[in-house]
Amino acid sequence: MLYHSTRSADGAQTRSFSDILLEGLAPDGGLYLPASYPQVSPAELDAWRKLSYAALAAEILKKFATDIAPAEIEALCAKTYTAQVYCNGRAGDDCSRITPLRPLLQAGNKKLVLQSLSNGPTLAFKDMAMQLLGNLFEYTLAKQGSELNIIGATSGDTGSAAEYAMRGKQGIRVFMLSPHQKMSAFQSAQMFSLQDPNIFNLAVQGVFDDCQDMVKAISNDLAFKQRHRIGTVNSINWARVVAQVVYYFRAYLEATTDNSQRVSFTVPSGNFGNICAGHIARMMGLPIAQLVVATNENDVLDEFFRTGHYRVRGSANTFHTSSPSMDISKASNFERFVFDLCGGDGARVKHLFTKVEQSGGFDLAGGDGDEFAKVAQYGFVSGKSVHADRLRTIAAVWRDCGVMIDTHTADGVKVAQEYWQDDVPMIVLETALPAKFNETIREALGRDAERPAGFDGLEHLPQRFEVIPADAARLKAWVAARLPA
Ligand SMILES: *Cc1c(COP(=O)(O)O)cnc(C)c1O
Repeated sequence: MLYHSTRSADGAQTRSFSDILLEGLAPDGGLYLPASYPQVSPAELDAWRKLSYAALAAEILKKFATDIAPAEIEALCAKTYTAQVYCNGRAGDDCSRITPLRPLLQAGNKKLVLQSLSNGPTLAFKDMAMQLLGNLFEYTLAKQGSELNIIGATSGDTGSAAEYAMRGKQGIRVFMLSPHQKMSAFQSAQMFSLQDPNIFNLAVQGVFDDCQDMVKAISNDLAFKQRHRIGTVNSINWARVVAQVVYYFRAYLEATTDNSQRVSFTVPSGNFGNICAGHIARMMGLPIAQLVVATNENDVLDEFFRTGHYRVRGSANTFHTSSPSMDISKASNFERFVFDLCGGDGARVKHLFTKVEQSGGFDLAGGDGDEFAKVAQYGFVSGKSVHADRLRTIAAVWRDCGVMIDTHTADGVKVAQEYWQDDVPMIVLETALPAKFNETIREALGRDAERPAGFDGLEHLPQRFEVIPADAARLKAWVAARLPA
């Protein structure tokens, strides 16, 4: 299985899975995709019904990572997807199933089901992929006799998932930038209480955009990057997307009894990474009826799936909402879907995304093409949820089902009810647990969020972080001083 960039005009397929594992963007600014999507036959799907989550993950990963020995993949997945790692979250979940389903709402023959994805160490779905990435990185670096220094910026979920996945890993250091005193108390305590010597927390005197600008400044300094083996773990990383394909298969196999049945998914979306994995699962042959994109007030994606107009917002026009992990101004994985929508025409994708950089968007229902007419055949629809919807949905699900959901999942549950169909289970992905967003839970329910066992007193643990100015040159010096000569 070889990979190419979404912007390569000649479709040159020269890179292997291991080549792109440690990379972000392709050199031409595009994103990596496989030359073709591996197909899953009905017989294979039947055989997969009996597998554990770890074994299923290995079967799927083998189709994409053909340059890693199958036995190694099985060992890496077995190590990653164990009940101990995914038993941190919702009380009453059967964590041996890793991503258990829970029936939530029912209206006639319409059924809404929640898939738990947030029982990992940081209580958000990002653990599902990041934990695998940590083990894949460690394995690949050991083989190459190499090291990696990860520099990232976070406003909350990504940074903690990366740190918990990379802590204690051989050959890996993490330097994570976050805006000083701007994360929730829970989120900063989660990160700053880590005492592992390979984890460095840097609290930047500025806002999230300052952190991101500092990471960009380092990314643009090729000499610094090469000298110090700098890498990233951002959401465009291909291995992260593949790891997320697994739970779509898993949910399907758990919700159905034979392959003639279909299910739909609703995905609380920001950077389009999670739902892009659903699109890939569908392209591999998984019988998915609808893929429902749920956005918050930052409705870049909802606007596209309603109108064909992709119009990025710029950070000044990005709202700070109560589902903050979906506060994005442009969706960094969206280009992968646009590549498929444009029939794999890399030159066209390059033209469209150059237009995004130059004039802020494109319109595929008129001005820039007519591909929007084909969106429906990929199963995509969308909807939007705002703060008042979120509060109403959290309260209704608590009242009617006795289940406490977080603000992002609430956006999903709200939009899911606009699309659920008779006799097709609608599976909503639970992207975080409510404990992470207690302020809004209090507003919705007048009580504190449930806090999983093991997180009591988190805020009182000793913290380890360094406050630094928003200055890329100072950051480079700080990082270089902590690396072996
Ligand atoms: C990251 C995140 C999302 C958005 O996922 P994308 O892959 O960026 O679309 C939604 N909810 C939560 C809680 C997240 O952490």
